[in-house]
Amino acid sequence: MKILVINCGSSSCKFQLFDMETGTVLAKGNADRIGIDGKLSYKSSKGVELEKDVELPNHKVAVKLVLSQLTDPETGVISDVSEISAVGHRVLHGGKYYSESVIVNDDVKKVIKDCFPLGPLHNPANLTGIEACESVLPAGTPQVAVFDTAFHQTMPAKAYTYALPYEISEKYDIRRYGFHGTSHRYVSHRVAEFLGKPYEDLKIITCHLGNGSSFAAVKDGKCQDTSMGLTPLAGICMGTRTGDIDPAIVPFLMQREGLAPEEIDTLLNKKSGVLGVSGVSSDFRDLAKAESEGNERAHLALEMFAYQGKKIIGSYAAAMGGVDVIVFTAGIGENTDTMRSAMCKDLEFLGVEFDEEKNAGLRGKEAIISKPSSKVTVCVIPTNEELAIAQETQELVSNK
Ligand code: AMP
Repeated sequence: MKILVINCGSSSCKFQLFDMETGTVLAKGNADRIGIDGKLSYKSSKGVELEKDVELPNHKVAVKLVLSQLTDPETGVISDVSEISAVGHRVLHGGKYYSESVIVNDDVKKVIKDCFPLGPLHNPANLTGIEACESVLPAGTPQVAVFDTAFHQTMPAKAYTYALPYEISEKYDIRRYGFHGTSHRYVSHRVAEFLGKPYEDLKIITCHLGNGSSFAAVKDGKCQDTSMGLTPLAGICMGTRTGDIDPAIVPFLMQREGLAPEEIDTLLNKKSGVLGVSGVSSDFRDLAKAESEGNERAHLALEMFAYQGKKIIGSYAAAMGGVDVIVFTAGIGENTDTMRSAMCKDLEFLGVEFDEEKNAGLRGKEAIISKPSSKVTVCVIPTNEELAIAQETQELVSNK
């Protein structure tokens, strides 16, 4: 079975074609700068690597181009689009409606549309991607929506309700939704498998640390809490996002700086986080370099990130009545030994015996980085959101 995974952004269409029998990626790439000047990048398992300028006026043309690239007689990897058994779409927001991935039909499309106000940048592009695939793939090719929010739908009301007037929350569906759900689900399942322990018996804290970062508390095989909220702005400070701040700062700044809603939104989402604090970069590699050269604000930004992460880990251990496994993933979690070490520092009271030797220099590999005697097992598990989307798609279409 071959499954195409599509991740449509407002001006891009990232894709990966999986052969599910072997679990390999046959080809991947990005039809980028849609509606601007159009670029296609493409890599295949046969060693083809190309980048070219193309006309990409809209997403439908982009999807058509992706399919014609995949079926290109010289550089493609399949001979006909009918070889694609199903398409899995990454969709940002499923609101309160979906706790699982679903096969797309008119009702699903309506929900994705109803959630436009909750995911204004992503959901419209996600729906466009689905409709583009419907219009260019053979009729009846199943499309599956895999929601970033779905995994977190098991949270209890006490974890997802904000202390706003209840009627207002209900009127606008304001609540904690959480994001990176595909990654938290994949990594929490994978770590249980890796440790050879039953998923349902473990109390797991998953730390997805990338350009966007979030944590999840997983107990009894279910997400109990997560750090992102109504939007992906909440939780720990990130590359360019504030994370949790006193909400009163928003009207304060709007008044003092005369900012319009879109302007404060840009400030909080794009100009803040470790970039805003350091004035150096949103990239943790740049921050580490600046810190090593004596830049105090880069040092402060890194300290803040580690401190806030540690506080979330501690609070989730308290929320679950303990923790068995802490797992690090995504760009920073998989690659940055110093950050893993800083976040786990002084957690001995929780039962964490961190192994600095095993941690040092470890990158992008599944591993245990706590001592054998540690009550809490600390691990690194590389995430693979695209593979997880392909697997969920396969499961749904096979059970159809
Ligand atoms: P992601 O959003 O998961 O792609 O993660 C992006 C973040 O991960 C950036 O801040 C990078 O600095 C960091 N990162 C990615 N790769 C590496 C690496 N090889 N070494 C250190 N940090 C990395």
